[in-house]
Amino acid sequence: MAHKFVRAVFPGSFDPITNGHLDVINRGIKLFDELIIAVGRSPVKNQLFTPRERVEMIAELVTDIPGVSVESFDGLTVEYAAKKKADVILRGLRSLTDVQYEFQLAMTNRAVAGIETIFVMTSEQYGFTSSTLIREVATLGGDLSNLIPESVRNRIRQRLKKVALDS
Ligand code: ADP
Repeated sequence: MAHKFVRAVFPGSFDPITNGHLDVINRGIKLFDELIIAVGRSPVKNQLFTPRERVEMIAELVTDIPGVSVESFDGLTVEYAAKKKADVILRGLRSLTDVQYEFQLAMTNRAVAGIETIFVMTSEQYGFTSSTLIREVATLGGDLSNLIPESVRNRIRQRLKKVALDS
């Protein structure tokens, strides 16, 4: 059977990108021909990095992975996916707690736009990693070496220095 080209979109906040996200990206690209990481630009509380900074950080990390690219988007994920002619949405699962919310989201996206969501499960070692906790631990000066890439750690360090100087 001829292979159909499959393009996936991996939407999220990625504030900041973690080793868990990268794990999902590396697993995901094995399933698809093209993977677009889509950083949501919708305003969120307690933002650490601007969408533009998040895109820059991710771009540095995925530049050597063929087929993977990153950009930011506004508005509905399904509309963005349609604009990109994506076949599927990729999401990561860490635990059973993720399943309930992700299930609801995937069903809604399918109901409103007919698009399927494909899930990959993260490695056990990243099962507890979340951007929210990373932001909290980082602000308190905790050691995050195993959870985020070094380039992201450096950015956080710079950001916290700037915050300290500004206040
Ligand atoms: P959102 O705000 O849309 O949940 P996130 O950036 O927090 O955006 O997450 C994007 C996707 O990555 C979600 O599917 C989330 O479940 C998944 N994800 C987040 N952290 C991890 C992790 N440590 N392992 C696997 N998947 C993860």
